[in-house]
Amino acid sequence: MLDLEKIRKDFPILNQEVNGFPLIYLDNAATSQKPQVVIDALTDYYKGYNSNVHRGAHTLADRATGKFEATRTAVKEFINASSTEEVILTKGTTEAINLVANTYGRQNIKEGDEVIISTMEHHSNIVPWQMICEEKGAKVKVMPINDDGEIIFEEFQKLITPKTKLISVVHVSNVLGTINEVEKIIEEAHKYNIPVLIDGAQSSPHFNVDVQKMDCDFYVFSSHKVYGPTGMGVLYGKKAILEEMPPFLGGGEMIKEVTFEKTTFNALPFKFEAGTPNIGDTIALKTALDYVNEIGKDNIAKHEEDLLEYCTAAFQGIKRLKIIGTAKKKVSVISFLIDGIHPFDLGMMLDAKGIAIRTGHHCAQPLMNRFGIDGTARASFAIYNTKEEIDQMVESIHKIIARF
Ligand code: PLP
Repeated sequence: MLDLEKIRKDFPILNQEVNGFPLIYLDNAATSQKPQVVIDALTDYYKGYNSNVHRGAHTLADRATGKFEATRTAVKEFINASSTEEVILTKGTTEAINLVANTYGRQNIKEGDEVIISTMEHHSNIVPWQMICEEKGAKVKVMPINDDGEIIFEEFQKLITPKTKLISVVHVSNVLGTINEVEKIIEEAHKYNIPVLIDGAQSSPHFNVDVQKMDCDFYVFSSHKVYGPTGMGVLYGKKAILEEMPPFLGGGEMIKEVTFEKTTFNALPFKFEAGTPNIGDTIALKTALDYVNEIGKDNIAKHEEDLLEYCTAAFQGIKRLKIIGTAKKKVSVISFLIDGIHPFDLGMMLDAKGIAIRTGHHCAQPLMNRFGIDGTARASFAIYNTKEEIDQMVESIHKIIARF
């Protein structure tokens, strides 16, 4: 059992009123709130040892470098990578996917080749592949999903051809909450030596991730969804693949030696980290991961499963409400529609009661097209959410329905 009262006190932002009501923050799939320890880690860095990393010959630079690299080790352990060389620090999930598309993709995708993604991808796992495929004269193919929002594995199998160069698929859908059977997809892809990228933006906050067990070739996630700062994320890649990939951005840090005639590149992971990185936010990410580890990923998963079950049951009791995304395995993300009320209006009316949900296409327009809708309302839960908050959302929804 989580000590919810204590956890809620760790997040200062939760202790406020919005529009005259206590804030109920249910937009965690967009970004999660930050505990005080993470905010403190940021201010400690700027107040105490702000300095550039890796190049300095002074005490502050040593301290900043030590803390910066400690995050890399913490990330390695968080996802169980086999070495810190496999952990590239990026701006976020989006940049990490673009990095792979522009390096691995540009190097390996040729005219006529194919990249497979799924119907439920976030735009950040669609557009980079479309861009590189367009440049190369290659094609993006899409795994279909069923009406519950699950990938149809047999249809996916049929998409693989000798021209398939990469498969990039989301671990957990930010709209449907579906937990995809990525291990099965990876196993199938590896029968044909096709590498697989897993978009972990929505799996990293909710349950334990083991990249070695999963055997994915790339795994990407964003700090801001795991209680860390924005502008910070991770690309995990298997060392053998990263070694073969050309650099992404050119500049300082990523070089071994530069002459006007020729440049040689730094070793992993620095080959992919040109320029001054996001030092303060990187350091604070370790604090966020430590915080998550302290509470325990299994405890978090259990609490959020309870919230999902509770909210699903409550929603099923509302006649005019339809849940979009009814997969057998889900995380605590619920998209829904209410007959006769536009999601945007619903979002505004809930906001008037201090309840923050998300509405719209959730950066997944092709998925909206699959369901024949423009958008949904979405409630998504994190470690600090409570059943009482769900009760209040449900009560407000009942009142809104009664008014329409
Ligand atoms: N992939 C998924 C599934 C997401 O939910 C998100 C963000 O909502 C992203 C990718 C993009 O993450 P970021 O904006 O942090 O780069």
